[in-house]
Amino acid sequence: MAYDATNSLEAHWMPFSDNRGFKEDPRLVVRAEGVHLYDHRGGQLLDGSSGLFCSPAGHCHPKIAEAVAKQMTEYTYVMPFQAGHPGSFKLAEKISRMLPEQMNHVFFTNSGSESVDTAMKIVMAYWNARGETRPRFVSRERAYHGVNIGGVSLSGMVKNRDIFHATVPGVMMLRHTYDPSETFIPGGHSEHNGVELANDLERMAQTYGGNNIAAVFVEPVAGSTGALPPPKGYLQQLRKICDQYGILLVFDEVITGFGRMGTAFAAQKYDVEPDIITMAKALTNGSIPMGAVACRDDIYETVVGSSKRGLTEFFHGYTYSGHPAACAAGNAMMEIIEEEDLIQRSADLIPYFEDALMDGLKGHEMIKDIRVAGLMAGVEVHAEGGPGMRGTELQKRMFWDGLSVKFTGDNAIIAPQFIATRDHVDEIVGRFRKTLDHML
Ligand code: PLP
Repeated sequence: MAYDATNSLEAHWMPFSDNRGFKEDPRLVVRAEGVHLYDHRGGQLLDGSSGLFCSPAGHCHPKIAEAVAKQMTEYTYVMPFQAGHPGSFKLAEKISRMLPEQMNHVFFTNSGSESVDTAMKIVMAYWNARGETRPRFVSRERAYHGVNIGGVSLSGMVKNRDIFHATVPGVMMLRHTYDPSETFIPGGHSEHNGVELANDLERMAQTYGGNNIAAVFVEPVAGSTGALPPPKGYLQQLRKICDQYGILLVFDEVITGFGRMGTAFAAQKYDVEPDIITMAKALTNGSIPMGAVACRDDIYETVVGSSKRGLTEFFHGYTYSGHPAACAAGNAMMEIIEEEDLIQRSADLIPYFEDALMDGLKGHEMIKDIRVAGLMAGVEVHAEGGPGMRGTELQKRMFWDGLSVKFTGDNAIIAPQFIATRDHVDEIVGRFRKTLDHML
């Protein structure tokens, strides 16, 4: 939509934004195609973060546009409770084929946040069906699990939780996995401390009783905090301890799902099978809001089998669960992933991406660390003028220098689209560096 400068920007309360600063100096995108965005002043930007890690197949993919447009002429809404439409069943089937083998059941939501809260409720329903009371959840410092009250309770990022008091009780935090003495790690994953950090869970089990812990939620690679790859052995050790105490392991793959690690899910990249996986974002290439939660078959069977036949088994769902437009976009996206070999393209680009970042940015006086996991990298700058000040300023300036990048505090999170070429990666790094140089 074209920008009408006579319209006031005041009415829209923007999420996670400096509303006052933005409204004085707006940065609006009015068109997008492939790896590019176009701003309201006519400038072209490269998308350095795939939107918010949403659009690996490129913006305005014609196949998705056509599928959604067609869907809008067939049926636009179907009640999802005790009724349905073919699109959601087809999509669940397609997703389950990409998941670890024992995971063949998918519950639809409308976002990553809803997926996390849904996963928490599946966990509660599972333990209830098993006749066990497990009142505690485990999460991790620096975790991001969305903004609904369940996800906020699991949040390890202070600003996302400190004023929001109505959180779920009984959440315990593993230590985060960032070791500031180890920076610019080649290959992204530290050789140290993986088992020791995961053993925090063992200590909790010893202190509170493993049979009181319902589930552990982790992002396999912590994303929104600034990309923290897990140290070697960490996820494996978590799996081992979960098995020992019967604790469910939940991977929040809202960012890592659908190819960002060079495999369909991070579970495959790290060869660790969780019990539940949350996903969203790339599921529809970011085109229509949609999330999903996949669980191991026996979790589904336990919950569904626990109530009398003929009655609703799980009292949870959204008006827009499995919305026809989202399913049309999701089904088209699953086909695009296959036809355009997107996961392999992501895998092929990863080594080049890492080299380009290290060669192009390491050693710059403003850069504190670069952490690469798959096709995602946290590029941390030295703070100046208070935490997050420099990052926020850089994000704004980069926009006008032709690069769209997501920042969290002083961490840029660079995450190219899977359709990006090596030249695009070079361009992202070049534009990033140019803005840093201008700020010196
Ligand atoms: N979980 C993780 C790991 C995420 O990275 C995000 C968003 O970035 C969410 C949950 C929340 O997703 P949404 O913003 O779609 O609610």
